Amino acid sequence: MEFLRPASWEEALAAKAEHPTAVPIAGGTDVMVEINFDHRRPEYLLDLNRVAELREWETGEQTVRLGASVPYTKIIENLRAELPGLALAGHTVGSPQIRNRGSVGGNLGAASPAGDSHPALLSAGSEVEAVSVRGTRMIPVEEFYTGVKRNALADDELIRAVHIRKADGPQQFSKIGTRNAMVIAVCAFGIALHPSSRTVRAGVGSAGPTPFRPTAAEEFLNAALEEGGFWDNGRTITPSVAKQFAELCSGAASPIDDVRGSAKYRRHAVGVMARRTLGWAWESYRGRPGGASGHVNGGSTEGGAQCA
Ligand SMILES: Cc1cc2nc3c(=O)[nH]c(=O)nc-3n(C[C@H](O)[C@H](O)[C@H](O)COP(=O)(O)OP(=O)(O)OC[C@H]3O[C@@H](n4cnc5c(N)ncnc54)[C@H](O)[C@@H]3O)c2cc1C
Repeated sequence: MEFLRPASWEEALAAKAEHPTAVPIAGGTDVMVEINFDHRRPEYLLDLNRVAELREWETGEQTVRLGASVPYTKIIENLRAELPGLALAGHTVGSPQIRNRGSVGGNLGAASPAGDSHPALLSAGSEVEAVSVRGTRMIPVEEFYTGVKRNALADDELIRAVHIRKADGPQQFSKIGTRNAMVIAVCAFGIALHPSSRTVRAGVGSAGPTPFRPTAAEEFLNAALEEGGFWDNGRTITPSVAKQFAELCSGAASPIDDVRGSAKYRRHAVGVMARRTLGWAWESYRGRPGGASGHVNGGSTEGGAQCA
C-alpha cells in the first residue's frame, strides 16, 4: 500500500487525478476500521491531513461552508447556533475520541445509510462541493447518496466542503440505538423548521438504502401548516396533523431487517421520531420571541439529541 501525503489542496487533487483508485483518509475512523479488519486493501491511501483548509469553516450570510475534515467536536463547540441540527447529531456520534477525529466529509464519503450527519444535512438544506482537476460542482445532498454506501463522487473527485444553510428556525435530531453512546443508529430523524420560507424539511437515516427526505410528508405538513395559519397564529400543531405527518414519514421508509432491528420496528420508530421531533421543534418555535409572528433569527440550541 502506498501512502500519498499531499501538502496542499492542489497536490491532493493532482494525486487523485493520477491515482483515481486512491482512498482518501481524513479522520480515518471509517477507513482504518476497514483496513484493520481487512475489508479493504487499497493500493493507495491519500492522506488529507496536511491540507489545512479542509479543517476550516466560514460563516456566510445564508450558509456555513464547512471544510470536509472539520471534526464533530469543532462543530459542537463552534457552530451550535448556525447548525443546531448537525451539532445535535454530532453529539451522538461515537465517543469523544471519534468526535475529535471523525468529520462530515468522511460521513459523506462513507455514505452509510446510518451516518448521523445525513438527516441533519438533508433537513437543513445542503450542497456538497465536489472538486477535481477538471473543476468544481455543487451536488445537492439529496442527490449525493446513490446507493448503500455509494455516493455521486467521480473517481477523480474529492469533497472540499459542505455548504449548509444556516438555521432560520428550530432544528431537532433523534436517534434510536441499542444504548445511549457508541452506537450505530437503528434509525435516525432530523427536522428543521424554516420560518423564513414557511416550510419544514426532514431527513431520515438508516431506514432505507440511502438517507432520504420524506417529501410526501413534508408536502402534507407544509400545506397543513399554511392552511391552518399555524406559522402566524402560533397554535400547537393538531394531533391529527402530527399523526398524519408521522404516518407519511413511516410510509416513506424502506428499511431492512438486520441485527440492529427489524424493518417493522424501524418503520414504526421513524413515525414516532417524526411526531416527537416535530412537536419539540414546533413548541420551540412557538416559545421564541417573535416565533409565531414570522420573524425568527438564528438557530435553536434548545432540546437535545434524543437517543432511546
Ligand atoms: C468506534 C466508532 C464509532 C462510530 N460511531 C459513529 C456514529 O455514532 N455515527 C456515525 O455516523 N458514524 C460513526 N462512526 C463512523 C465514523 O466515525 C464516521 O462515519 C465519520 O464521520 C467518518 O469521518 P472520518 O473523517 O473519520 O472519515 P474517514 O474514515 O477518513 O473516511 C471515510 C470515508 O470518506 C472518504 N473521505 C474522507 N474524506 C474525504 C474527502 N474529503 N473527499 C472524498 N472522500 C473522502 C474516505 O475515503 C472513506 O471512504 C464510528 C466509527 C467508529 C470507529
